[in-house]
Amino acid sequence: MSSVPLKKETLLAQVGNDRDEPNGAISTPIYLSAPYRHHEIGLLKGYDYIRTSNPTREVLENAIAKLEKGDRGFACSSGMSAVQLAFSLFKSGDHIVASRDLYGGSYRLFEWLSQQYQLEFSYWDPEENEVEGLIRKNTKGLFIETPTNPLMTETDLKLAAETAKKYGLLLIVDNTFYTPLLQRPIELGADVVIHSATKYLGGHNDLLAGLVVSANPEQSDRLFDFHNSCGAVLPPFDCWLLIRGMKTLALRMERHEKNAKEIYSFLSGHPLVDQVYYPRKGGMVSFEIAREAWVAPFLKALKLFTFAESLGGVESLITYPATQTHADVPEETRTSYGLSNRLLRVSVGIEHADDLIEDLAQAFNQLKEPAPGIKGQGGAEAEPVR
Ligand SMILES: *Cc1c(COP(=O)(O)O)cnc(C)c1O
Repeated sequence: MSSVPLKKETLLAQVGNDRDEPNGAISTPIYLSAPYRHHEIGLLKGYDYIRTSNPTREVLENAIAKLEKGDRGFACSSGMSAVQLAFSLFKSGDHIVASRDLYGGSYRLFEWLSQQYQLEFSYWDPEENEVEGLIRKNTKGLFIETPTNPLMTETDLKLAAETAKKYGLLLIVDNTFYTPLLQRPIELGADVVIHSATKYLGGHNDLLAGLVVSANPEQSDRLFDFHNSCGAVLPPFDCWLLIRGMKTLALRMERHEKNAKEIYSFLSGHPLVDQVYYPRKGGMVSFEIAREAWVAPFLKALKLFTFAESLGGVESLITYPATQTHADVPEETRTSYGLSNRLLRVSVGIEHADDLIEDLAQAFNQLKEPAPGIKGQGGAEAEPVR
């Protein structure tokens, strides 16, 4: 092998095919054994007990560490347990500044951590204020989700890393939406990267998983201790399923993005749509339908897009953040920053873009209101009313 570092696409396709495995398996073997034999006192082959380490999980953890250019990876039982693992680096009394437009489940966990464990949180909107204005004496961390969910605002990670360095803060980045293919936060100065691998990395809407990558060995040791102590580790079969999904990530991401761009153009020109949010990359598009009353009939009229809560899989999904992903964010809070009751979020799948656009078009067409007096005949152009 040459010493030129392999490209991300190659690393992904080859996950698990670089082990000195006695039988030469191409697909990573699934090791289900919980305990491992001790050959004599103090003599192990490297594995002891499944919570501590597992050969299948190790392949996955090494792969994500390499892809994110970090020191060490940790496979967790969910994206939320990945967030929790990262938060094991803080203690009661610490203050953390987090992106305001945040995954609803992370917001819910932070509320819990502040009520039960005396962690303090402030929420930051990069478009509205400077992060430095929120930093206090006890600020220890900066938690950033970029692009944000569901409003797709990008945060300048380089700038965030400079601020983190200046104030001695731990910079944690949720990289679920962009994946290491579109963004590598550690290269930009982040300390910890987390993923809900349930989304793009798994990619097939059939798995719950989380990943954490640590940038330096000291921090990796602390994370390992908590991971092993708490035990929210990813089971071997799920590790294998995630490895299998990751092999096609590069191809899937290309198609997600191509389709998302076409859908963005279609929605941007549609008379029944007000705002469209797309961060120039990736497969996620959010938009505001012109009237709140149209949300329910629109969702009902869709035939290809499934009204469901996740993202990043091969099948296109549509989400209503107000009652689904962001139901735990108080209405007043979310509407104050633009997450209205008219907002829909689309996870664009890998189907043919023409079929997806046709589905959206036919659903919009069913919203056209009948002209006054000719009830039930339809056909008249609706006036978008706010
Ligand atoms: C889904 C999601 C999570 C939580 O992950 P789970 O795998 O559902 O536990 C965290 N962050 C983001 C951005 C997500 O989309």
